[in-house]
Amino acid sequence: MSYNVAIDGPAGAGKSTIAKAIAKKKGLIYVDTGAMYRAMALFMIREGIAAQDAEGISRKCQEADITIAYENGEQVVYLNGENVNAYLRTEEVGNMASATSVQPAVRKKLVELQQALAAKSDCIMDGRDIGTCVLPNAQVKIYLTASSAVRAKRRYDELTAKGEACDLAQIQADIEERDYRDMNREHSPLKQAEDAILVDTSDMSVDEVIEHIIGICEE
Ligand code: C5P
Repeated sequence: MSYNVAIDGPAGAGKSTIAKAIAKKKGLIYVDTGAMYRAMALFMIREGIAAQDAEGISRKCQEADITIAYENGEQVVYLNGENVNAYLRTEEVGNMASATSVQPAVRKKLVELQQALAAKSDCIMDGRDIGTCVLPNAQVKIYLTASSAVRAKRRYDELTAKGEACDLAQIQADIEERDYRDMNREHSPLKQAEDAILVDTSDMSVDEVIEHIIGICEE
């Protein structure tokens, strides 16, 4: 049986930074499930499907072939054969991902892909429903969170560092709207699994969080 670590939590809690670092230290594969939902959202945007068009999203998602590969230690997402990593991290795609991910047809397709990956490799997987739905038997489950103000500031710093113009208040509003949607959707809402350990990173440095979670894994 493979060794699986599940990390769930809201947008901007630091899941990917932390999971990537732990993957490296523990020799695990890092699986970023948000990137898969983002690739699906990119497909919908390109196809001109509106965020509110539930029927269109459910139908169109069957035409999106999403696969992942590892190149130079990085996860690469392929959408119908094209490496789309460069297009996934925008706010537009993130907001669309939150809207498309409410559709059961989208979730079913991507959860199957995630479960197949986890079954064949020792991995640390981050997302919203990993501990509750995707990997209910993961050996370690972490629920990583931070206040929305701290999360917005982190996202703002990340975007500004990349030279993208952005507005802090708008980012915080988007984060809160996305949290609300992710936590209140009918299918696989974001919530802490009963057996997950809560880690609030509002007042912790990245290194402190990494050490803390590695400690939990080793217990
Ligand atoms: O984590 P990230 O911000 O990249 O995720 C984008 C969106 O994809 C989230 O807001 C959420 O709606 C959706 N998602 C999901 N289930 C996951 C991972 C992401 O519904 N396991």
